[in-house]
Amino acid sequence: MSERPKAPRGTFDVLPEQAALRAQVEAVARGTLEAAGYRRIETPAFEQTDVFQRAVGESTDIVQKEMYTFEDGGGRSLTLRPEITAPIVRAYLEHGMHKLPQPVKLWYLSSCFRYERAQAGRYRQFWQIGAEALGSDDPAVDAESILLLHTILGDLGVAGVRLRLASLGSHESRARYRELLTAHLRAHEDRLSDEVRERIDLNPLRAFDSDHPATREVMASAPLLIEHLGAEDLDHFAAVREMLDAAQVPYEVDGTLVRGLDYYTRTVFEFTSDALGAQSGVGGGGRYDGLAEQFGGAPTPGMGWAAGIERILLAAEHLAAREPVCDLYVALADGTAAARIAGFALAAHARRAGVATQLELGGRSLKGQFKQADRCGAAFVAILGSEGIELKDMQSGEQQALESASAVISYVLRGRHADA
Ligand code: AMP
Repeated sequence: MSERPKAPRGTFDVLPEQAALRAQVEAVARGTLEAAGYRRIETPAFEQTDVFQRAVGESTDIVQKEMYTFEDGGGRSLTLRPEITAPIVRAYLEHGMHKLPQPVKLWYLSSCFRYERAQAGRYRQFWQIGAEALGSDDPAVDAESILLLHTILGDLGVAGVRLRLASLGSHESRARYRELLTAHLRAHEDRLSDEVRERIDLNPLRAFDSDHPATREVMASAPLLIEHLGAEDLDHFAAVREMLDAAQVPYEVDGTLVRGLDYYTRTVFEFTSDALGAQSGVGGGGRYDGLAEQFGGAPTPGMGWAAGIERILLAAEHLAAREPVCDLYVALADGTAAARIAGFALAAHARRAGVATQLELGGRSLKGQFKQADRCGAAFVAILGSEGIELKDMQSGEQQALESASAVISYVLRGRHADA
């Protein structure tokens, strides 16, 4: 016999209990974001490969080794989205959203795909919830965006949260700083890991992310970008910090914070949770003022973040799955065809009247049916038999004969409203 297929490595099925928890994360995030004027957007699961190559950056881990890229039947190179900021900027330009009042505030919840080493909290298909504000470089946009994620993580009870904050400055100050950092790395080249050494010219900032002990020592004395920002970048960063202070959002300034995507400018941040293991990043983001131009658009500032749903679920304490409601369970006292049809019709009418109804479908004994009704948390059980319809109130245990389906439905609706 051939082996039964399994979900691909690094992917998982979202089973009903987990789907219920995810729905709660979504509800909390949507509540906070929509109340702040963010509206949902959904982009395709794949884009032209070029969208990510240009935006995320040729030298990044994502583009170099993590993209699921394929050629379609027409010979086009397409890539399953590894992140969603670039597709949103693409959509903003494509749909002329610059004509709308700025900033345009969008949120999303969609899956992303990265060919990463699978482990707890790191998957090859994972879900990101995110928010992007395009069209304003006001530092209040940065502070508000960070505050929104802070609020969502707080409301979900994500444990041991820390916020690290930095500024990467403009592309110009970054280019100047890159030269300083490259010189520092060259001066200590013999102590660096092979991977860092090979990428000195390509992406020197990534050296801050290395786990290699000798590399870490070299990086401890490296110049920091945050100490080489221009005056305007410093003013912007100070204003963001002042607003976060005013909103009482705690953070640490961390000049070693480097995000794995090239498009960031100025503010960058990351929330981590002590409740997570090695993969401690819950969510992060930053400003990307040059991204629209990389797509050939007019200069358009942008700011946003993404948080991983799986990481939130691993670290959240307040989440409990809400069970589906069952107002009425339709049971069959005997298996006669007439009772089965009457039961089916009762369930159909009850549902039309807005009663959450489940129908016996398992061919159980009457005792088994009551057990099942209990498992579903049914408020009432209607028992259909040759004698007519009996309705049992599962809370009080009272049972009574009722003459018609509509009498059952009115009774259940009254009972439900009395409960509410
Ligand atoms: P990034 O786009 O890399 O900044 O990631 C933003 C957030 O997405 C991270 O903080 C994680 O919560 C989540 N995330 C990123 N990569 C993965 C992955 N491979 N598996 C699960 N979650 C991820």
